[in-house]
Amino acid sequence: MALNVVMLGPPGAGKGTQAERFATTHGLPKISTGDILREAVQAGTELGRIAKATMDAGELLGDDVMIGIAGERLKRSDTTRGFVLDGFPRTVTQATALDTIMDGRGPLVVVDIVVPEDVLLRRLAARRICGSCGVNALVEWTTTCGVCGGGLVTRTDDGDGIVRGRLKVYHRQTRPIVKFYSKRPTFRVIDGNQPPDAVTAAMDQAICQACTVPDPGKEIPL
Ligand code: ADP
Repeated sequence: MALNVVMLGPPGAGKGTQAERFATTHGLPKISTGDILREAVQAGTELGRIAKATMDAGELLGDDVMIGIAGERLKRSDTTRGFVLDGFPRTVTQATALDTIMDGRGPLVVVDIVVPEDVLLRRLAARRICGSCGVNALVEWTTTCGVCGGGLVTRTDDGDGIVRGRLKVYHRQTRPIVKFYSKRPTFRVIDGNQPPDAVTAAMDQAICQACTVPDPGKEIPL
């Protein structure tokens, strides 16, 4: 059975890091819509031109564009054994579309990483990415990229005012997804306010356990 994982959580919760670790350990593709958009911006494509201003403002791109991007990516053959989605869905409309995309492809295991707001603000202020290869890094730990040695820069959407705005956008537009998924037997909540390795272990355990749920339908039968 395919292992289809969706990562939920606010900006700074550690979704990207944990998605990467889980995907690598389990030999699955990590699909990050934020990374896809940042690559498009860097490559100067039409999508990148559309996306840049919206991302820099901390707003969400339109559902139609994002559903198109995710749908296309999930058609690729490397996803047949499963995938780890990071950053999609981000609205209930996107979540509903993902159910349609997933029809007949096995259940979604949905992981919600929960972190208190003050911790998120601290983390986002410290977050840097590599200016050369785009990998995530925390400035407390390093000043150069561990992958390619490039210099670290602040993401254009991690500036102080923008971060607060992004958290508001999260609460308004993305948080309702938790309710959308929370009654499913394959929904799990993870405490993200612990060291990265502890979050990785908790996620591994939660996902393995969720995968043994028999016949995980969309709702728990009443
Ligand atoms: P973070 O990891 O901080 O939550 P991402 O890297 O996932 O942020 O996304 C960065 C930006 O890309 C978002 O603020 C938004 O503008 C855009 N974006 C990414 N995924 C989506 C999506 N599914 N729907 C709409 N906009 C998106």
